[in-house]
Amino acid sequence: MANLDPTGWGAAQRDARLAALLDAARDGSPLYRRRMGKAQRLQELEPVTKGELMRGFDDWATDRCITLQGASAFLADTDKVADGWLGRYLLWTSSGTSGTPAIFVQDAASLAAYDAIDSLRLRGGAPGTSMWGLGRSFAYVGAVGGHFAGLASVQRLRRLAVPPLAPRLQVFSVGMPLADLAAGLQTMSPQVLVTYPSCAVALASLQAAGELQLGLDEIWLGGEQLSATQRQTVVAAFGCQVRNNYGASECYSMACECAQGRLHLNSDWVILETLDSRGNPVAPGEDAHTVALTNLANRTQPLLRYRLTDRVRYCSVACACGSRFPAIEVEGRADDTLSLPAAQDRRVQLLPLALETVLEEEGGLTQFQLVQRSDHALELRLGQGTANPAAAFARAAAALHAFLQRHGVHKVQIVHGHQHPRSDARSGKLRRIIGWTDNRAPPAKPAAARPRATRGT
Ligand SMILES: [Zn+2]
Repeated sequence: MANLDPTGWGAAQRDARLAALLDAARDGSPLYRRRMGKAQRLQELEPVTKGELMRGFDDWATDRCITLQGASAFLADTDKVADGWLGRYLLWTSSGTSGTPAIFVQDAASLAAYDAIDSLRLRGGAPGTSMWGLGRSFAYVGAVGGHFAGLASVQRLRRLAVPPLAPRLQVFSVGMPLADLAAGLQTMSPQVLVTYPSCAVALASLQAAGELQLGLDEIWLGGEQLSATQRQTVVAAFGCQVRNNYGASECYSMACECAQGRLHLNSDWVILETLDSRGNPVAPGEDAHTVALTNLANRTQPLLRYRLTDRVRYCSVACACGSRFPAIEVEGRADDTLSLPAAQDRRVQLLPLALETVLEEEGGLTQFQLVQRSDHALELRLGQGTANPAAAFARAAAALHAFLQRHGVHKVQIVHGHQHPRSDARSGKLRRIIGWTDNRAPPAKPAAARPRATRGT
């Protein structure tokens, strides 16, 4: 069974790390001590949700100095991204995609593990090479303005890397108008672009049209699911290698892509259990009812059998690359890039991650769904538990209007949806940004190719 293969590659390291993690959680985390009771094995624990951990935050970590009040006060200052907290921790927050934003505390050991995995496995295991090395220049295009995992990690590397990375690594906001982003990238002319699939696809359309002329060596993608079509679009436009990986705020480096384009689980540092509705492991190739993550790298804020919202399947056929790490397939969320009319008969592309960041960070929402109803109307649905919905809608709509204005979109009405966010009838997935196609309504006039994206963190 792929979930906890007793003889598989990395099993010895995995088992030793798991034993140490269970001991650390039992000894130092009141929350996990209660949950574990007399349980000796990981499989005896009930999977835990993000909400449960956040409600018990002060009892969760194994360092009793870690409190919700202290962490929240630190996180309120967005100038402190990647600063050390309590002199020894890196903090980042997850998005509120499953309704509850969470705070994750990274200790030195977990960061060292993520660094090592990224350097070795994203580089294909080539010895003696650092992924950030070789004197290359890097453009990171991601969510900014908060303590997000991607931004915090990049800013930390800018400070720590030897030789200094800061002059060679520039950060761009994914919320910039695409034309401004393209101009900034063109001026910088990076050799490596690090971003989300939806952003790479939007930039690829400019590159294919000759409006962008980047000479990239590599594109590193993460944070969203990468479809085969998206990969083809990006490779065709930029003509360079694409490296995909799978991580989350809960565990920054879960799986790395091989030369065959398959994701291989870092099973010596991560346990991903695919379970049926009774908590038993499902066979490779089968869909799971619950995906439970155990992060073996972090003993300060333990994550044992944590319920992930992504869908994960173990592949039933061995990967042709020969890697002994198990190949997995991941379905993240399926959010769309919106295409809206702007001045002078232009259309602008609005990336799902940019829209979600605005609605969360400036709009103050955690549970929402934005549905494109026409070229001139967006419906914003609020979660069932939203306090004072009228005021919450007004604040979020104002933030969204301001964002649209910055992108040159001036004639779009935002209406308060009567429904709450709804899952897709076919896939069961809850998408937060829904564009035309899945509204079953044709655009008023043919739109430019509408990139489609899903997002993983
Ligand atoms: Zn492979």
